[in-house]
Amino acid sequence: MDPGVSSLDQVLLHGLQKVLGAPDRLIALHEPEFGGNESALLQECLNSTFVSSVGKYVDQFEAMLSEFTGARHAVAVVNGTAALHIALKLAGVQVNDEVLVPAVCFVATANAVVHCGAVPHFVDSHFDNLGVDSSALAEYLQAIAEPAPQGLRNRRTGRRIAALVPMHTFGHPVDMASLLEVSERYGLPVVEDAAESLGSTYQGQHTGTFGKLGVLSFNGNKIITTGGGGAILTNDAELARHAKHLTTTAKRPHRWEFFHDEVAWNYRLPNLNAALGCAQMERLQDLLARKRELASRYLAVFENGDGIRFIAEPAGCRSNYWLNSARLEKPDMKARDRLLTVANDAGYQCRPIWTLLHKLPMYIDCPRAALPVAERLEASLINLPSSAKLASLRQ
Ligand SMILES: *Cc1c(COP(=O)(O)O)cnc(C)c1O
Repeated sequence: MDPGVSSLDQVLLHGLQKVLGAPDRLIALHEPEFGGNESALLQECLNSTFVSSVGKYVDQFEAMLSEFTGARHAVAVVNGTAALHIALKLAGVQVNDEVLVPAVCFVATANAVVHCGAVPHFVDSHFDNLGVDSSALAEYLQAIAEPAPQGLRNRRTGRRIAALVPMHTFGHPVDMASLLEVSERYGLPVVEDAAESLGSTYQGQHTGTFGKLGVLSFNGNKIITTGGGGAILTNDAELARHAKHLTTTAKRPHRWEFFHDEVAWNYRLPNLNAALGCAQMERLQDLLARKRELASRYLAVFENGDGIRFIAEPAGCRSNYWLNSARLEKPDMKARDRLLTVANDAGYQCRPIWTLLHKLPMYIDCPRAALPVAERLEASLINLPSSAKLASLRQ
């Protein structure tokens, strides 16, 4: 090995090589798999000519999601961002409200807040589970917020804080019990961003089913994909009805009349994409088993890894291990970037976490809590190749 390469780099490379072997071409961060009924159902959907806004696969896909997650209702939509947009509206978020969002998050979550005319308000994460830290949040709200007639008021900005959006980072569940306690104390509706956590449970209950509403994504890089797609989960029949209505141009059912009773969106999932979703759902348990197998192999390799540690599922949780992550014991942006260079050069597609949301140009002036843990996570986390096919189970 190059004598200039530090021992951290060697720990990472040796670990990757042990788990994944030597790559003959780039081993992707995450790849979808279509080895089941995908082609058959897509062909059947084409033959039916119902490829667009109506068709049996949308209903079937929603039923499968509801059955799998235990949410009473699932409403399929065009992508996860659209699902968040409508879920936030249904949770009561209005123009000029603030919505609490982790700074460690994909940009779509903050964008969806802005699509409601509201302002993202960034909060810190927990070092172990990578999601919103409930005790830091409670302390922060104690300092900056006060009850007001219209809800919780941010003393500093005068705006209403209308909702809290915890996100289950890379599939690791947030500590929902303590978070719900805080949200209840402050009367904050919870919209769970479970875009990355289909198949992850917290104390036996599926993520995305704890809040007033929850959101899934089926983008191409997620654990299952519909090409592009998402869903809104809720146990509330009226919210589910309204979610369907708002995402399908708010058209009153009628044999021929076009009567729409509110401003709405064309956010429905096409039947063609839902057909793909049905075939992918049939494989979800198998995908989960192999992803967990891959994670256990990473865990074994990086358990005593000098300076690098694998991030295991939080206690009391089952993670889907959508993305496997390791972290530097000493957060160091330069070391992180060097490790990323070395790993990618060697053929292992590794990635950092997202640039913290408050550092993006459009969110620089948004209100935020102190974010010490988010900063540490940004400077220490590395995502490792995570496709289910990389597990030994099927080799
Ligand atoms: C993927 C993702 C989304 C958005 O989903 P799309 O389907 O890509 O719109 C939202 N939040 C998080 C945390 C995500 O990872």
